[in-house]
Amino acid sequence: MGNKLVQISLAGAPHPEVAHSRESMGPLGPQSSASSGKTFYLETFGCQMNVHDAEKVAGTLIARGYRPVERHEEADLILYNTCSIREKAGEKVFSRLGALKKHCRKSPKVIGVLGCVAQQEGERIFERAPQVSLVCGSASYTKLPDLLDQLEAGNRRVTGLDLDTDECFETELTRRDNPFRAYLTIIEGCDQRCSFCVVPTTRGPERSRPSNKILAECRRLVDEGYTEIQLLGQIVNAWEDASPRRLRFAELLARVAEVPGLRRVRFTTSHPRYFTPEIVQAIETHPTLCDQIHLPVQSGSTRVLSRMLRGYSREEYLAKIDCIRPARRAISISTDIIVGFCGEAIEDFEQTMTLLDAVEYDQVFSFKYSPRPETAAVGFEDTIPEEEKGQRLARLQEHQRRIQLRRNQAAVGQEFEVLVESYQPRLGQSVGRTTSNRVVNFPGAPEWVGRSMQVRVTAAGPNSLVGVRADQAGSGGMTP
Ligand code: SAM
Repeated sequence: MGNKLVQISLAGAPHPEVAHSRESMGPLGPQSSASSGKTFYLETFGCQMNVHDAEKVAGTLIARGYRPVERHEEADLILYNTCSIREKAGEKVFSRLGALKKHCRKSPKVIGVLGCVAQQEGERIFERAPQVSLVCGSASYTKLPDLLDQLEAGNRRVTGLDLDTDECFETELTRRDNPFRAYLTIIEGCDQRCSFCVVPTTRGPERSRPSNKILAECRRLVDEGYTEIQLLGQIVNAWEDASPRRLRFAELLARVAEVPGLRRVRFTTSHPRYFTPEIVQAIETHPTLCDQIHLPVQSGSTRVLSRMLRGYSREEYLAKIDCIRPARRAISISTDIIVGFCGEAIEDFEQTMTLLDAVEYDQVFSFKYSPRPETAAVGFEDTIPEEEKGQRLARLQEHQRRIQLRRNQAAVGQEFEVLVESYQPRLGQSVGRTTSNRVVNFPGAPEWVGRSMQVRVTAAGPNSLVGVRADQAGSGGMTP
């Protein structure tokens, strides 16, 4: 969601406070000794889909006998799973590769670039970074075992760059990094061709997984102890059932929510064009479906939206919001916004500012427009100077900060069910989330991670809430 830059190393325990049990790692365990004794380091940049791809890549490697390590210095195989959604994100991997150069002269390694930069730059990566041996886009991850065979046989350079695929990366070999929340991709790729976005060229065409496989995976995840599932897709609600059941997206949500043992189900990212009232009805009827919808608008100006090829106007977007707001359960709404898109006049930007007031989002992920190769918008004139983009972004973020503060302050005095995700020993605080995805900090204990508890909110900032366990609210919130 919002493509928050996530950087994870899959080498360590999934959570500082929780031992990673074998069960929580899924059906792994070395199945091949072909690479026994070899180690890998995998670093991921980008969105949740990248994080989940990395979990599957790690699972594939572990099943071949590779062992994850925490530092690239200790690894035989170094992999960077990359993001190219904006220029800055794309350049990150090259600075990593530059820093590696000196180190690798002393101790040779096999280095691979995976994901969106791999797909976008292809074999040009070998010219820019000759120390790289493997370049593989996400649409070719099913070929990873073959590519690893070739590398282990001594091939110097191997690539997986085919985009012409109707396959999803189906694997049970997933090394999930969180002991209670599991990501589950239901649709890969993107066919939308928004004029600013590189995703269709880096992730290939849309491929939906059949509902029977999705539901079977959900049941397996519950058996393995996961209580929260996050369904993923670049356009998650463009999912189409390839099975004879022909479920609609809202029906799939309902079926997943009914899997016994699941406590929370989230889904991201929804596209306004495919957003239907049935999705809201599914949330209203199934308490397991979290009361949260991420619905990227990108701009509040119909003129800009039409240049972005988003397929809806400001009014049509607001009509979608109008069918969410009256829901029986209050549903929190978040969005993504791009400022300074080609030709965005100040009047267009002001329309985005008024949209913030019209919707009153609970969270906004906002970005300066960054021209990307092979998108329609590279043919448009990038008319807004960087400095102006920065000023618009700052204004937008400050305005939204005030909206969030006001909305969060309205929660003071209320009680919420919070699923505890981590513990901060230095502060003695547990950190968890409400089903509406608000972060809550409260006096806690390490063993509460993974548990659900009622928390009364006592204070609020723009980005998080502070509280106390409801059953301790009268006692000053002391830990037991
Ligand atoms: N597929 C989703 C969609 O279209 O709504 C999300 C795609 S992307 C991973 C997340 C966000 O990055 C987008 O919603 C958009 O706001 C932002 N983004 C995409 N391309 C961008 C660009 N060229 N410059 C700046 N931000 C961009």
